[in-house]
Amino acid sequence: MTPVFGYDAVVAGAGIWGCTVARVLADAGLAVLVLERRSAPGGNCRCEKDEASGAEVHVYGSHIFHTSDSKTWSFVNRFTAFNGYQHKVLARHAGKTYFLPLGLALLNSFYGLELKPGEVADFIAGEVAKSGIPGTPRNFEEQAVSFVGRPVYEAFIKNYTAKQWGCDPKELDASIIRRLPVRASYDVNYFADLLQGIPRWGYNALFAEMLHRTGITLRCGTDYLAERKHIPSGVPVFYSGPVDELLGFRFGPLPWRTLRFERETLPVADFQGTSVVNYTDADVPYTRIHEFKHFHPEDAETMRRPFTAVCREYPAAWKPGDEPYYPVSNPQSDALLARYREEAAREFPGMTVGGRLGEYKYYDMDKSVARALETAETFLKKRNA
Ligand SMILES: Cc1cc2nc3c(=O)[nH]c(=O)nc-3n(C[C@H](O)[C@H](O)[C@H](O)COP(=O)(O)OP(=O)(O)OC[C@H]3O[C@@H](n4cnc5c(N)ncnc54)[C@H](O)[C@@H]3O)c2cc1C
Repeated sequence: MTPVFGYDAVVAGAGIWGCTVARVLADAGLAVLVLERRSAPGGNCRCEKDEASGAEVHVYGSHIFHTSDSKTWSFVNRFTAFNGYQHKVLARHAGKTYFLPLGLALLNSFYGLELKPGEVADFIAGEVAKSGIPGTPRNFEEQAVSFVGRPVYEAFIKNYTAKQWGCDPKELDASIIRRLPVRASYDVNYFADLLQGIPRWGYNALFAEMLHRTGITLRCGTDYLAERKHIPSGVPVFYSGPVDELLGFRFGPLPWRTLRFERETLPVADFQGTSVVNYTDADVPYTRIHEFKHFHPEDAETMRRPFTAVCREYPAAWKPGDEPYYPVSNPQSDALLARYREEAAREFPGMTVGGRLGEYKYYDMDKSVARALETAETFLKKRNA
């Protein structure tokens, strides 16, 4: 195909989805124009250096790359080494600190017991039986209690969930949690995925390397929606912005939860001894404190510095114009999304709408990469057929 206006394809949005699509297309010899409306690529994985502490601050919340998919892992490892960081999360409840996820460390500490691995299932079943949940759980609270029993639910899940979603968990659908595994071991690795880490030189360097290739032109500070009139029809577009915005919010905005991050540089070498602590009680208004230097324990110089960068995370109601973080899935938003999807397919037949904003779906980074690889590979197969 002869390139139209100098490019074979346009990618709107340089998050991990858009960068993956752009790279695969460029590797296949296509000239790709990447338009990003922020001032730099990386989407919500973007980082900023905190000068005093030297820490890489994850601007949109802590991001740990984890996957069990070897294809995705091989792809991202083409552009960076990972530092082998394994994620652990602690929880503060009633003045005490516990290891998540739910497992032997938390149960024994919380109940003051010495349960053995073989005793966990019966113990939890006993706690659930005492909680008196009727037949089929009718809401989030009943579903969670039916998995872990009432005391653990009340201490670690109820208030955290209420803060996260801004409502009583009884008002949330039971389907939000399909399973809540309790580990019969002292394994406190937060993710079950064995392939895990943080890009050794930070996420920004990963994105710079992904886009550093002949055939890719990146234009930051450029909104695709403002530029699209200059793009000839027939040029394939891979759009990873919000699907409702693509269609001018004509049916009303899809609802989101947003987050407010309160950042601080403190004059201590180490504030909390780990990267993420969850605050599970109602009287603490934030859900988590992130301390970024702990994501790079291999960086001895930064670890030693007498400063540290921390960030308190406050979930909040979303209104148009706020940063969208978590889609709010319910029957109304599902129906609205279906309308937008249909309309986008009808109005923009040459466009692929993807990524977390385009699909209106929470994806971890590895799932975003996997879906982008599939999207780009399917496109190339059709193009070459
Ligand atoms: C608080 C939080 C913590 C998370 N932590 C983790 C974690 O630890 N591990 C993990 O694997 N995943 C994590 N995730 C998920 C991760 O953020 C997503 O998987 C990832 O950001 C999805 O990438 P994306 O490219 O789809 O979207 P985004 O990163 O949002 O990128 C979309 C890009 O498109 C741009 N854009 C939008 N509209 C336009 C337009 N009209 N024109 C031009 N550009 C446009 C945006 O500016 C943005 O840069 C977390 C998510 C949240 C909310």
